[in-house]
Amino acid sequence: MRIDVVSLFPDFIAQCAAFGVTGRAVERGLLWLHGWNPRDYAEGNYRKVDDRPFGGGPGMVMLIDPLRNALQAARQADPAPSRTIYLSPQGRPLTQSRVRELAGEQRLVLLCGRYEGIDERLVAAEVDEEISIGDYVLSGGELAAAVLVDAVTRLQEGALNDAESAQQDSFGDGLLDCPHYTRPVEHELGAVPEVLLSGNHAHIAAWRRMQSLGRTSQRRPDLLDEQALSKADRKLLEQ
Ligand code: SAM
Repeated sequence: MRIDVVSLFPDFIAQCAAFGVTGRAVERGLLWLHGWNPRDYAEGNYRKVDDRPFGGGPGMVMLIDPLRNALQAARQADPAPSRTIYLSPQGRPLTQSRVRELAGEQRLVLLCGRYEGIDERLVAAEVDEEISIGDYVLSGGELAAAVLVDAVTRLQEGALNDAESAQQDSFGDGLLDCPHYTRPVEHELGAVPEVLLSGNHAHIAAWRRMQSLGRTSQRRPDLLDEQALSKADRKLLEQ
């Protein structure tokens, strides 16, 4: 998968490719990540990328042309068709199911705003979709782009050392994940639940399912409403 990010801070984006799962995906050739700085496409000695808003008010607004030229350069860098996403607090909230869909795209172009945001005419003409990472306001789209890059990268085949782990994660099957334990078995903070030491795979799977259902019902009942629970799940939930 190729992801191009248009941002005034491309070094920030490069950091995504430096560590952990994302870094490994780049090394394994599963992710190609490139930053494009609109300042490189701005004109004049000052390479201006923003100006005051019409109608007055605080802050600055990002200019159309530097962003448009950077977007064009990013798109032309690869012939595969791309989807352009503007990271914005006004966008559709990002969910794991949208992440799954986006992970199947060959190419994404991410657009990061700064200041008061981007001239609306550019958004209307060049953006396919606006995505928000939550109901709060960040200073720039780079953190949101990093979140999206990370979430779609871990779903690329071969990005995780154990492919099952993404399926078992929260939201993988619509529920929250079960709790996890490791050594030592006994600790002053408590003991590992016995069933996990039993070696009985059926009992372990049932316990994990019950924990997932219980946690989801306590912490995120909204997710359970969306689930078509099986008879067996309903029984487990009642326990
Ligand atoms: N004036 C804008 C508004 O209220 O909708 C907020 C601008 S914000 C200070 C600057 C940039 O940060 C935005 O253009 C967007 O790219 C990014 N941003 C801020 N919050 C975000 C969020 N929750 N999700 C995704 N991007 C966000």
